[in-house]
Amino acid sequence: MNSQIKKETGLIYVIQKHLASRLHYDLRLEEGGVLKSWALPKEPPVTGAEKRLAVKVEDHPLGYENFEGFIPEGEYGAGRVEIWDRGFYQPLHQDENIKEILILGQKLKGVYTLVRIKDRQKGQENLWIFFRNKNQEKAGLKDEKNTNGKTGQKDK
Ligand code: MN
Repeated sequence: MNSQIKKETGLIYVIQKHLASRLHYDLRLEEGGVLKSWALPKEPPVTGAEKRLAVKVEDHPLGYENFEGFIPEGEYGAGRVEIWDRGFYQPLHQDENIKEILILGQKLKGVYTLVRIKDRQKGQENLWIFFRNKNQEKAGLKDEKNTNGKTGQKDK
């Protein structure tokens, strides 16, 4: 039953603003029964102008997307956590080095890409780049184009 709902609405997407020793934003995407997670040192991009570093961090359990509150002093990530944006996402294309997703949040809407930095240095394997695609055709702009009357016409 639950999976049927998810098929219609998408997978869980959340960004938690985390005021730890260093402010960052935790992007979490439901995949394979967990929340895949990336920490963004800067505010997530709402336009196609900015690219953001995204550091892959450990998976979090489903349910953590609802967490807001304080992580106590002395614990890992001590500080305040608040939900910055939430909604659903749909995977459009992915392999182990890239994820192209449609985000349906309140602040982030549209096609976004997470791509692993091709860097062979040791200790750099967790570095990804997160950005909003310039071409938003897959987010539904195709439909707007189709209103110009040329739809369905084949060139001969
Ligand atoms: Mn965090």
